[in-house]
Amino acid sequence: MKRPMTCIACPQGCFMEVETDGSRLIGVSGHKCSRGAAYARQEIEAPVRTLTTSVLTRGLELKMLPVRSSKPIPKEKLFAAMDAVKLITVTSPVKAGAVVAADFLGLGVDLVACRELGSGLDS
Ligand code: SF4
Repeated sequence: MKRPMTCIACPQGCFMEVETDGSRLIGVSGHKCSRGAAYARQEIEAPVRTLTTSVLTRGLELKMLPVRSSKPIPKEKLFAAMDAVKLITVTSPVKAGAVVAADFLGLGVDLVACRELGSGLDS
């Protein structure tokens, strides 16, 4: 089976055609460098995404804290990750980049704060 794919590994955004058997990459064309082929293989065989979302807070200046995964996680884990995020409540002030949940879901990836958030008592 052949399908179109746009490489997002650099701003050139090469339009590629990839051939798969459903789970493995068989061939790729249209890429201008090896990163395109590597991206196609990852996207077909083990797709990953950076999780970006928000967690609840209590006693801080905002009710929600934007967070992201420190590295991309397997796409198949995104729904489980969103369920786990709902169970997190941040109760202490944080700096941007602070770890909100270490080794999130045992994936070897941390959930980190995207911004600083102070105590609700400061404002
Ligand atoms: S194939 Fe290479 S040149 Fe094309 S978008 Fe991907 S990284 Fe950039």
